[in-house]
Amino acid sequence: MPSDLKAAKGTKDILPEEASAWQHVEETSRRHFALYGFEEIRTPIFEPTELFNKSTGSETDIVTKEMYTFTDRSERSLTLRPEGTPGVVRAALEHALLRKGEVERLYYIGPMFRYERPQKGRSRQFSQIGVEVFGSAHAAVDAEVMEMVLALFRKLGVAQSSLQVNSVGCAACRPRYRTALQEALAPYRDKLCPDCVKRLDTNPLRILDCKVPGCIEIRQKAPSILSFLCEECRQHFEQVRGLLDALGVAYQVNERLVRGLDYYTRTTFEVASSSLGAQDALCGGGRYDDLVASMGGPATPGFGFAIGADRLVMVLSESPGRDITAPPADVYVVHLGAAGLKEALVAARKLRESGLAARLDPDPKDVKKQMSRASAWGARYALIIGERELERGAYTLKRMSDGFQRELRAGDWDEVAREIAAGGGHAVGA
Ligand code: AMP
Repeated sequence: MPSDLKAAKGTKDILPEEASAWQHVEETSRRHFALYGFEEIRTPIFEPTELFNKSTGSETDIVTKEMYTFTDRSERSLTLRPEGTPGVVRAALEHALLRKGEVERLYYIGPMFRYERPQKGRSRQFSQIGVEVFGSAHAAVDAEVMEMVLALFRKLGVAQSSLQVNSVGCAACRPRYRTALQEALAPYRDKLCPDCVKRLDTNPLRILDCKVPGCIEIRQKAPSILSFLCEECRQHFEQVRGLLDALGVAYQVNERLVRGLDYYTRTTFEVASSSLGAQDALCGGGRYDDLVASMGGPATPGFGFAIGADRLVMVLSESPGRDITAPPADVYVVHLGAAGLKEALVAARKLRESGLAARLDPDPKDVKKQMSRASAWGARYALIIGERELERGAYTLKRMSDGFQRELRAGDWDEVAREIAAGGGHAVGA
């Protein structure tokens, strides 16, 4: 009977067919980040609520509207993490990972939670792959980390991704821009959406990020933040751009690119894919030189990003000609009779020990049925252990692609494994 129990709105199950694409994305990211000297950190998925108020920012949409906050049985206010950076900073401070003069490079992979209106590419539980670099304010970090994201996307085969960069200045120069923005947009107060009317007073930079068509139109009147940068921020941005050029990274400057979190200083960036539709951002990040100190730590500059893994998997599974979802399926062990089953179990065990993916049907009907299961699984070979084979002390190894068969000596596992391996590598990544 079908159950009326369903996954909560804005959440989804990742079924086996899709899970292998996730594994591929996660494993490729891990290996890629390791090449750049990053190490993994795993932090809890819930944190004390005040962590996000203090870091993500009490005026942001995330904190004011989107957090899953609850009180536990001891009346503590806890929140399911809406983003990764605050927890990583907290952990780095708690475990004294940030040493003066040293650079710490960390990455994380895991679920985030935001109470948003679900649509394609936007859900309430989603996964992010993020990195944080602590301890260097140098523009080389910004350029190297952006190059790292683009190289990862290239490695994974993401088509049509583009990098946009901007600078949002620092605590010294941003207030002047804030005032200029308020002045420029105040005459249009009546035409802004209700959220932006509030933002005009509390957080006017966020108006540049609003998705309401009327607000998109009005912000054409906004001055460019780049003409308000102080000398240090201007130089930093120029250096970032020069280093991106030196690394051969193509980018566009988007002077309206501000991000939804309060803590960014100087560089902000986003990577979008035109194959995604309305929610086209694959990755966003930037520099946050004041965050660690504002959370009570020593003054420590930082730079980081988060990739939306759900969107990344979506882009890859929609790319034509890519088959990243095929798990390894080397050999299906076909057998008949009680003696055959015993031998087949041993065969599967031995072949797995040689690193081959092997499967068998413990409750088979006949050879034909097993052969059709072997093809449904996508097996490259069938190892047949029937009555005839057992009598002769042999196995039949059949190549599924063309039906070519060979008889091999029973129990000669090395020879069986060699023969299968010689027929081509694993299907994964093929
Ligand atoms: P943010 O943490 O808001 O800077 O977002 C970084 C990336 O996470 C975005 O570029 C998206 O790819 C992804 N992302 C953010 N919010 C969601 C969501 N609600 N559902 C799916 N992906 C998201």
